[in-house]
Amino acid sequence: MLYDILIIGSGGAGLSAALHASKSGAKVVVVSEGYPTRSQTCMAQGGINAALANMDSDSTISHIEDTIASSKRLGSSKMITKLCKGAIESIDWLESIGVPFSRTKDNKIAQRRLGGASHQRACYSQDYTGLKILHTLYDQSLKEGIKFLNERFLLNLSVADNSVKGATFLNIRDSSIEYIEAKSVIMATGGYSAIYYGFTTNTNQSTGDGIASALRAGAKISNMEFMQFHPTGLKNSGILISESARGAGGYLVNQKGERFIDELKPRDEVSRAIYAQIEDGNEVFLDIRHLGEEFINENIPQERRLAITYESVDPVSELIPIAPVAHYSMGGISVDDNLMSSIDGLFAVGESSNARVHGANRLGGNSLLEIIVFGSLCGKNAAKFAKDVEYKANTKQLQKDQDFIDNIFNMPKEIDFYQKRELLGSLFYKNAGIIREDKRLKLLLEDLKQMQKNLPLMGIVDGGKTYNTNLIEFIKFGNVLEIGEIILLHAIDRQESRGAHYREDFPLLDEKFSHDSIFEKVVK
Ligand SMILES: Cc1cc2nc3c(=O)[nH]c(=O)nc-3n(C[C@H](O)[C@H](O)[C@H](O)COP(=O)(O)OP(=O)(O)OC[C@H]3O[C@@H](n4cnc5c(N)ncnc54)[C@H](O)[C@@H]3O)c2cc1C
Repeated sequence: MLYDILIIGSGGAGLSAALHASKSGAKVVVVSEGYPTRSQTCMAQGGINAALANMDSDSTISHIEDTIASSKRLGSSKMITKLCKGAIESIDWLESIGVPFSRTKDNKIAQRRLGGASHQRACYSQDYTGLKILHTLYDQSLKEGIKFLNERFLLNLSVADNSVKGATFLNIRDSSIEYIEAKSVIMATGGYSAIYYGFTTNTNQSTGDGIASALRAGAKISNMEFMQFHPTGLKNSGILISESARGAGGYLVNQKGERFIDELKPRDEVSRAIYAQIEDGNEVFLDIRHLGEEFINENIPQERRLAITYESVDPVSELIPIAPVAHYSMGGISVDDNLMSSIDGLFAVGESSNARVHGANRLGGNSLLEIIVFGSLCGKNAAKFAKDVEYKANTKQLQKDQDFIDNIFNMPKEIDFYQKRELLGSLFYKNAGIIREDKRLKLLLEDLKQMQKNLPLMGIVDGGKTYNTNLIEFIKFGNVLEIGEIILLHAIDRQESRGAHYREDFPLLDEKFSHDSIFEKVVK
């Protein structure tokens, strides 16, 4: 069956695009490796930005200015303006479809201040903001009659004459290969923080599979070196303690009880300050005891629960041990002002894209905003594209991917790729993490290239066809090695410090690097 639009990924970006594309009259299918109620979107806690000015004298101009300042001259002021101007309408829309935002005493939508913001701008639903948004979008998608295909793992895009034709998927239930044809494709597969395996707030889902497939198909990808580290991951698991805890007045202290940074500075600065403390042999804690049990239970109940469950401390009476961890991918598939990539008909939205709104450092609350505002735009633009395009079928990719999967089952099992995945995660954290330097980046690149070379010896041990997670994890590791290389190449080439990319050998921002880092593969 030929669809107008194939949407890959059922996080907030995918569902927002699906709803608006479907309302534009397009025949849509949403395909994802999991289920629509599970993704990074549902873990978002802190909030979604919009200058409603319910708490103070905020304005859309301030929102634009804060976002431009945080992007450190890498964002596009046109795209940032589009994002911020769409914010108030998006909150109205989310509320109208049922998102239960927390309220003030006089029944306005409550807002809180997140790092790098000049005002109390983030609208929230306790600390379950992403979950409430995602589940509401899913309810609406079901009501709209949108078709979902779950447990399908993206393998490759099908592209001919620089025009997208569809994509191939591994059906996780029985390991068969499926080909879905579509006049346009929206990539909404999220980011690549899971490359920092063991040091991230994301689940293992975030291996940048969509970005890797776009790269293989010849699409431009950009700014891969910009990985945002969140200051407050739980020390032993990386699980996020939301910025809303600091927004509400939480302190960062070391074991001597000393505060060492303004807690509401942008994330890159706070993460570096914490990292420096840890490198000096100190321990770092988040202290929210003074906020009181009632406030914590009312406003940030999930943070309390996570700290008790995963760190065995109750923040009402104890300090929370924390460390900065990989959190958000600013780089991704390059898109134009209409969110279309360099391949005709291939759109990208959300964390898998680089829509030039976050630049070198994303502001908390702007990512949920992006998936809603640009999700809507992307859905409408893809629908328009599908209406106008003349579609010519091309099914060559199907056989190639059948051969690819058959080959994996027959590969030698000389090296355990799970060990390599873990090793790579810690090497990335140490050498391509919060503080970087030429020699260490180059050594890591050599290690990564060796892993690429050895990949054909890292065969899977599970020969079964039903729910073979060993197979999926192997393919994901291949994707990690592919895009990890680009992260390192971009990080080596960017000989300056800007936002999340900090080079101790080039500690200053250098104007000659005020442009995107772009990578494009020559496709034979
Ligand atoms: C713990 C946490 C807290 C956060 N808090 C906030 C916050 O308070 N405010 C804010 O603005 N932002 C926050 N963020 C960031 C924000 O949640 C994400 O950037 C955003 O939700 C990404 O949405 P997305 O739809 O692009 O991707 P995701 O929500 O990650 O969805 C990706 C989708 O792609 C699918 N997929 C991935 N790979 C494949 C494949 N190979 N085949 C098929 N399907 C695939 C997945 O199954 C999933 O459905 C937070 C992030 C985390 C992790």
